[in-house]
Amino acid sequence: MVEKQQFDITIIGAGLVGLSLAFALKDSGLSVALVNAKPASDTGMFEDGRALALTLGTQQVYQQMGIWPDDASMFQPIKQTSISQQGAFSRLRINADQMGQPALGYVVPFGKWGKWLWENVKKCAHVTWFEPATLKSYELNDGSVSVNLKDSNNTVFTSKLLVGADGGRSTVRDLSNIEVENFQYNQVAMVSTVNISEPHNGRAFERFMAGGPFAVLPLPDNKAGIVWCVPADRVDHYKSMSDAEYLEGAQKIFGYKFGKFKSISKRSCFPLSFQRSKALIKDRVILVGNAAHQIHPMAAQGFNLGFRDSWGLAQHLIKESDLGHDIGDTKYLQKFIDSRRHDQDQIKQLSDRTVRVFSNKLPILKQARGLGLLMNDFFPLLKKRLANKMMGLVGG
Ligand SMILES: Cc1cc2nc3c(=O)[nH]c(=O)nc-3n(C[C@H](O)[C@H](O)[C@H](O)COP(=O)(O)OP(=O)(O)OC[C@H]3O[C@@H](n4cnc5c(N)ncnc54)[C@H](O)[C@@H]3O)c2cc1C
Repeated sequence: MVEKQQFDITIIGAGLVGLSLAFALKDSGLSVALVNAKPASDTGMFEDGRALALTLGTQQVYQQMGIWPDDASMFQPIKQTSISQQGAFSRLRINADQMGQPALGYVVPFGKWGKWLWENVKKCAHVTWFEPATLKSYELNDGSVSVNLKDSNNTVFTSKLLVGADGGRSTVRDLSNIEVENFQYNQVAMVSTVNISEPHNGRAFERFMAGGPFAVLPLPDNKAGIVWCVPADRVDHYKSMSDAEYLEGAQKIFGYKFGKFKSISKRSCFPLSFQRSKALIKDRVILVGNAAHQIHPMAAQGFNLGFRDSWGLAQHLIKESDLGHDIGDTKYLQKFIDSRRHDQDQIKQLSDRTVRVFSNKLPILKQARGLGLLMNDFFPLLKKRLANKMMGLVGG
C-alpha cells in the first residue's frame, strides 16, 4: 500500500497572500503543500494591469524575510500622496520627508510582484507544489486533515492545518460552511497603465468623485497606474470608449500634473464589493487574504492587510510548533485570530467608511468631508496617525 504524503501545512491558493505565507515559513522546519489552480508559468495569471501599492510596513517585513529585491528599478517609491475631493478646495497632502520616512510605500506592477514571489517560492525546499490542482474536498481525521485534490492524479494527502488563501470565492470557506457578509459598492474599478510625458517625482493622487474614486499611482519607467472607479451601470459606456476618448476623460479629471497621458495599456475591470467571512477558523482550517476579507481598493490596503495576516500567521505557527503544540488546534489558532482583529477592523473601516462617505451626494456631507480633509492636513497629530495607518506602521 502506498503511504499517504504528510505535510504540516496545506495552503490552497498561490496568489500573493498564499505565496507570501509559503515563503515566510522558509526556515521554520515546517513542510508546506501549496495547491494552485493555474500554473503561473503558462497562464500569465498575474498579468491584469494592476499597479500594486505596498505599504512601507509591508516592504520592511519583506526585507526582513530576505525577499525584497536588490533591483531598485522594479518598484517606485511613493514620496508624496495627495487626497482631494471633486469640486472642493480642501486637500490632504502627506510627504514621506515630513513623516521622517524614505517613502510612504512602494508601487510595483502586480504581475511583476506575483512573478517575483512565485520564482522565489519555487526555489524553497520546504514547499511541495501541486499545480494545476484545485481542492475537491477535505475530511477531518484524528489530529490531521485529509486533503483531496482535483488534479490528474486525484491526489490525496494529510496535513495538520489547512489554510484557505484561495481568494474572494474561496472553496475552502465554502467547504467549511463558513458564511460571508457581502456588500456591493455598485462600482467597477477600471485599471490601466499609461505612459506619461513628464516625471511623476513619486507623487500619488487620490480624488474622490460622486461616481467613485479616481487614483493615480507612480510606476517606474515614466509610467503611472490609473484606477478609475465608475458606477456599475455606466461601465459599458466607459468600456466602449476608444483609448483616445478614455485618456481625454482621465486627463480632464487629473489635469497635467504628469504632463500628457501619451498611451494606455489594455483596460481591466474589477466589480467592487466588501466581503467579510463570518468566521476565520474552523476545525483545522484558517482563512487569510481575500478569502477572509475583501475591501474596496481605494486605500490600496487589501493585499497589505492580507500580507500582515499571512506574516502574523507564519510567526504564530513557528512559535506554537517550537512549543510542541498542535498547530492545527483551534485553541491556539483562536489566539492568533484575536491578535489580528484590531488591525483588520481598522483597515476595513478606513476603506469602507471613506468610500461610503465620499460617494454620498448630500451637500452637508460634502462640506464635512472638506473639513475632514482640512483638519487632517492642518493637525500634525491627526495627519501622522492617518499616515501611519496608510503606511502599515504600528501606532496608527
Ligand atoms: C483594482 C484593484 C487594485 C488593487 N490595488 C491594491 C493595492 O494597490 N494595494 C493592495 O494592498 N491591494 C490592492 N488590491 C487588493 C489586492 O489585489 C488583493 O487583496 C490581493 O490580490 C488578494 O490576494 P489573495 O492571494 O488573497 O487572493 P487572490 O489574488 O484572489 O489569489 C487566490 C489564488 O487562489 C487560487 N485558487 C482559487 N481557488 C482555488 C482552489 N479551489 N484551489 C486551488 N487554488 C485556488 C487562484 O488561482 C489564485 O491564484 C487591489 C484590488 C483591486 C481589485
